[in-house]
Amino acid sequence: AKGNMEEEKDYREVMDISNEFRQLVNKLNTQEKSRQEFVSNVSHELKTPITSMKVLADSLLGQQGLPEELYQEFLHDISKEIDRENDIITDLLALVRMEKSESEINISSVNINEILEAVLKRLKPIAESKNIELIFESFRPVIADVDELKFASVATNLVENAIKYNNTDGTVTASLNSDHQYFYLKVTDTGIGISEENQDRVFERFFRVDKARSRETGGTGLGLAITKEIVMKHHGSIKIHSKEGEGTTFTVRIPLKYIA
Ligand code: ADP
Repeated sequence: AKGNMEEEKDYREVMDISNEFRQLVNKLNTQEKSRQEFVSNVSHELKTPITSMKVLADSLLGQQGLPEELYQEFLHDISKEIDRENDIITDLLALVRMEKSESEINISSVNINEILEAVLKRLKPIAESKNIELIFESFRPVIADVDELKFASVATNLVENAIKYNNTDGTVTASLNSDHQYFYLKVTDTGIGISEENQDRVFERFFRVDKARSRETGGTGLGLAITKEIVMKHHGSIKIHSKEGEGTTFTVRIPLKYIA
């Protein structure tokens, strides 16, 4: 027969395995729940434009001799809903591809200042249409290991949001800084801000503080989820600082050197 000590050791081992097993089951349950939630959100989001299109198309079909303008207006609305459906699918594909662990990331040594200047230049017309001033502050030249296209889309998304959720005549400041280990991109706006309880939630897929406003401005609610995923892929972090009615700052921190 085994001695007491040995029996106790066996018992402890069994308990350890059983604990580990329970933790694994819990983790799988949580993952399954979040997967179900995602599928249900996706279905809902994809259905909304289709419901609108159906209503619009049916009203066109049901009416004879509609005035030409009304006819044009309905078709225009249908076309907008198709664009929306397209945007959602494009963002979803980007997100799902990124979340696959095997998705490749194309790292090279990149001039970050140049990327940011190009992004701001491209967004200038949108800012001008709201009379928003776009400022680029660069404290030093930064060369870092990033996926150029993916990093550009991070900067684009943050600046686009800073314009979208800003007031007319507001300001958007993108500032770039670095230390010996990281570079920091800060995007600050003078817009509507985000309440404390919503600040963490903005990174969730499909989360929008104001669905109606986001829909009007063509938002899918996936931008920040994609942005966060890209930043994580670079072993970086993203933080938010915001005050309702005053404005928001997003700070992205990415290591200068990429270590796979
Ligand atoms: P969307 O496509 O709706 O802009 P995002 O994922 O980019 O989706 O952002 C999620 C939500 O976070 C937005 O709908 C908005 O409510 C909020 N948000 C994002 N950026 C800002 C900002 N700079 N100021 C205020 N609210 C913001």
